[in-house]
Amino acid sequence: MAQGSAKIRIVHAEPLGHGARLLRVERVDGAALGFAGGQYVIINTGVTLPGGKLAKRAYSLLSSDAEQRSVEIAVKRIGAGPGSNVLNDIAVGAELEWSGPWGKLRLPDGFSGRALVVATDTGITAALGIARGAAAAGAAQLDLLWLVESDDTFVSERFVRERLPERARLTVLGGFLPVGHPERPARACALVGDHLAAGPYDAALCAGDGAVIYPLRDRLAALGAPEGSVLLESFFNNPLKKSA
Ligand SMILES: Cc1cc2nc3c(=O)[nH]c(=O)nc-3n(C[C@H](O)[C@H](O)[C@H](O)COP(=O)(O)OP(=O)(O)OC[C@H]3O[C@@H](n4cnc5c(N)ncnc54)[C@H](O)[C@@H]3O)c2cc1C
Repeated sequence: MAQGSAKIRIVHAEPLGHGARLLRVERVDGAALGFAGGQYVIINTGVTLPGGKLAKRAYSLLSSDAEQRSVEIAVKRIGAGPGSNVLNDIAVGAELEWSGPWGKLRLPDGFSGRALVVATDTGITAALGIARGAAAAGAAQLDLLWLVESDDTFVSERFVRERLPERARLTVLGGFLPVGHPERPARACALVGDHLAAGPYDAALCAGDGAVIYPLRDRLAALGAPEGSVLLESFFNNPLKKSA
């Protein structure tokens, strides 16, 4: 295993819902990736952006970290976005470059407690990676909440349930407000608060809409989560970036 850049090959692709795709990817040199569930890779899509930079985009690994040589990502087509369109259209057998694995959204090695995982939208990929990794390590009880507008534009609820380990309990909060809706953060905090009766939790991990997960972290802290115990991975609307 080696962190850093590597040439990769698309070895399998299949459509998901309306406008999304599941890709199976391997390093051309056959090396193991060395990732933990919840981490992501950055794919160089090869597209040059108007300013001259290459479009490099992050994708969380949704497959189990028990398998390190052949991994899966799911990519939702976002409007005319360069990265997601390339990956939705690319041919099986094509080669690209990636770097990784990256990210701190992962359970500590040997974690054996109870974890809450909250995903919004495409953040479900990271949640799946975390849940499957925890199961592969034989640890952790996981409660997974997925806030999603509708399940026909990305992976479906069925897709998620088929891949979830037995010990992970999934609650889908469907019909969630659309991305960008001003009441999204408050609604998410209320919904998650309602579902916390199952706690207490030893760890909380949140992935997806940055406009939602940062306020959610504050809400979880107010509900008693110890400082630093809530990990975040913003997929879009990252409030820490000038343009997310
Ligand atoms: C750590 C991390 C993991 C990620 N994992 C995944 C993943 O598993 N699957 C996946 O499809 N995407 C994932 N993304 C998002 C991905 O990196 C790209 O932002 C996305 O594919 C759009 O890229 P683009 O070049 O097509 O469009 P761009 O032109 O870069 O994006 C257009 C706009 O859409 C926003 N956007 C990105 N995703 C969404 C969304 N779901 N809903 C609404 N707006 C969005 C972008 O932030 C940007 O403002 C992840 C992002 C990060 C940071």
